Amino acid sequence: MSSSAQYQLDSQRLLAFLDQSPTPYHAVESMTSRLAAAGYERLHESQAWELQPGRGYFLTRNGSSLIAFHTGRGNFVETGVRMVGAHTDSPCLKVKPRPDLKRQGVWSLGVEVYGGLLMNPWFDRDLSIAGRVTHENAAGELTSTLIDFKVPLARIPSLAIHLDREANEGRTVNAQKHLPVVLGSEQPGESDFRGMLQQKLEQQVGKDAGQLFAWEMYLYDTQCAAVVGLQSEYVSSARLDNLLSCFCGLDALLERAGEVPSLLVCNDHEEVGSMSACGAQGPFLRDVLERLVPEGLDRQRMLNHSMMISADNAHAVHPNYADRHDENHGPKINAGPVIKINANQRYATNSENSSVFRQVCSGLSIPLQEFVTRTDLGCGSTIGPLTAGNVGVSTLDVGCPQWAMHSIRETAGLRDAEYLVRALAGFYDRSQPFGGGVV
Ligand SMILES: [Zn+2]
Repeated sequence: MSSSAQYQLDSQRLLAFLDQSPTPYHAVESMTSRLAAAGYERLHESQAWELQPGRGYFLTRNGSSLIAFHTGRGNFVETGVRMVGAHTDSPCLKVKPRPDLKRQGVWSLGVEVYGGLLMNPWFDRDLSIAGRVTHENAAGELTSTLIDFKVPLARIPSLAIHLDREANEGRTVNAQKHLPVVLGSEQPGESDFRGMLQQKLEQQVGKDAGQLFAWEMYLYDTQCAAVVGLQSEYVSSARLDNLLSCFCGLDALLERAGEVPSLLVCNDHEEVGSMSACGAQGPFLRDVLERLVPEGLDRQRMLNHSMMISADNAHAVHPNYADRHDENHGPKINAGPVIKINANQRYATNSENSSVFRQVCSGLSIPLQEFVTRTDLGCGSTIGPLTAGNVGVSTLDVGCPQWAMHSIRETAGLRDAEYLVRALAGFYDRSQPFGGGVV
């Protein structure tokens, strides 16, 4: 019997996960500590694996992508693997390699734009900086350390309306000119960002930190995630796209009660096309599946019995912009997970794999919604079609509806997140093997 019917979302744990995960590296670290606490064992790609039935395992690639799986009865070929996918990255601002700008008595940092960022909401926020630095350890070996300044130390001030009277009609943002972030007043001497990082690193790991060679550091909003709405029905946070799905996928994996092999993959680099060693167009998942079933023909049979659900948030209909949705396909927040469909394969959903999900949700009394973009608007995409094409597994695209996708502050529904965990756990527990794709 599936435990998913009883599952209740712990909103405080969701908020803590969102706050502790300002970058994909931190998100993966948050997820791996939860997996380890739940008894999942860490694997390394550099080593040989000896997997046992009835055990949970996880591994990371680049520190920013994660695969966790439970071997169930270990009969991969005959039952297939139930897979859920999500992505760990979100659009944001990334500090340039030589970022320091000293102008008008102010020390600023040059930034690159990562992904399809909605830029305007980044102005006038209390920003901090987090990411990964690579440096020498005491033995002279290279190592990487995660850093999070946590306190608000940067901002992008708006230009006053008095200096731009047309601001409300047509202000555009030039990323090179208008986005450098202000750190503070110019310091006397030679202070620079590298020195600031080195100092922070030494505070964290001690004087043995050694030389710092390079970094991936990102800006983020220090305002904590919050439960909002008249009936406390919404969650408001940065990075809901797509940390909400990472959270739901992981909760579902840990809730699963069945004996079928189950897997969660959380990829980095979705927001920039997924083509990397750890992205969904890369070989990470394929490589792991090859370890689970090394023999090629057996693996094909296993894939034929398998199905993937790619979970990534969907656009909820916005009351002030309702005409941006097709009149019959405007998902509402807290009315259930959304099945995403696109005739041009921007989503991988088809009638067979969506019917599997509909059947699972119907059994658990979970409402579902459907999204198709307006016919005169282009459609976004996600890791679903890329994974389907890369691995050859039948893939369904779903997600929680949300507002303000790619803003620094997004809004989604707590009830939808709870529905999604229950639905994914129910999918993990579905014992019938798929075949010829699904049925
Ligand atoms: Zn997304």
